[in-house]
Amino acid sequence: KDIDALIETLETQHDINKEGLVTLLALENPSKLYQAADRVRKKYVGDEVHLRGLIEFSNYCSNTCFYCGLRGPNRTIKRYRMEPEEIIQCAKYGASAGLKTIVLQSGEDKYFKITTLCKIVEEIKKMDMAVTLSIGELSTKDYAELKKAGADRYLLRIETTNKELYQKLHPGMSYENRVRCLIDLRELGYEVGTGSLIGLPGQTLEMLAKDLMFFKKIDADMLGMGPFIPCENTPLENEKGGDVETVLKMMALARLLMPDINMPATTALGVKDKLGYIKGLQCGANVIMPNIGIDEYKKLYKLYPGKVPDNPSETVNSLENIKKLILSQNRTIGKDKGYRKKY
Ligand code: SAM
Ligand code: SF4
Repeated sequence: KDIDALIETLETQHDINKEGLVTLLALENPSKLYQAADRVRKKYVGDEVHLRGLIEFSNYCSNTCFYCGLRGPNRTIKRYRMEPEEIIQCAKYGASAGLKTIVLQSGEDKYFKITTLCKIVEEIKKMDMAVTLSIGELSTKDYAELKKAGADRYLLRIETTNKELYQKLHPGMSYENRVRCLIDLRELGYEVGTGSLIGLPGQTLEMLAKDLMFFKKIDADMLGMGPFIPCENTPLENEKGGDVETVLKMMALARLLMPDINMPATTALGVKDKLGYIKGLQCGANVIMPNIGIDEYKKLYKLYPGKVPDNPSETVNSLENIKKLILSQNRTIGKDKGYRKKY
């Protein structure tokens, strides 16, 4: 009964305290929570699923995040950088396939000059598409130049809002700078996406509840949340990793707290569980990010295992597979650029 009342308040008022969030995150049978999130998703953002074409253009990274296979010290992976012309060709393919957003993602690779990135953004903007960047922490000035070149959105997960845990997992980086980046991006007029990595060692339900409160406080436009999947040759290779249920609860709670945001069913969710995308779409998600990069490179963008099977066209997030999956769920494919429609 108490649980029903909590879910009802959330569904009608989109607000709840930390204790309430922890109680709901601990639910053994979350089906009512999921149903409420699905209703709110339908009411506020409708049945459309927006596709964002992902291009992973470099796997070089100078950071050392403990969970990530691309971390600089990992000498066991082969590194690549796409040529600007290759990136633009992939974006053209995306445009011809009807996509309305291109997401450019990479490790923190200082090789690409801001002027080069600005030119790539300008070229893609000429194709009448929205451009999202996910290239890590930059200076205020660099963010401003990329915005001026036409970038519309930026994805930078906070990963965890627990400062102590954040510092443990990100040697040489600072929590304060991460937050500074998010504030800069907001002030510069980007649509701002952030999110958590779920199931990190030492992460508690209380920490996850605080993550959700942080997202609401900063009024995030987009939230990407996925399970942490342990990756070989990283300091966390022998850890357990996140479970799908906790990710789905976080997504459902995010949708109830922030009814009009854009929220993907993430690739990691689709990799961790064969039905991950479908489950995500049923728990509040309204975005999927098909990978439209070049097969040869997809194989090398190894954040975690299982991301790309031997035949990359069978990858869970290939464009064709995703379109079929969306229609099978009685959902439609978004036709416009899919900006956040603020309620
Ligand atoms: N370098 C940029 C950054 O860190 O913001 C963008 C690329 S980074 C690979 C994108 C996201 O991948 C990170 O925000 C992190 O949450 C996720 N990621 C990294 N390693 C992961 C792992 N082992 N399991 C699941 N997600 C992971
Ligand atoms: Fe680099 Fe991003 Fe991976 Fe961290 S998460 S090591 S910044 S690619």
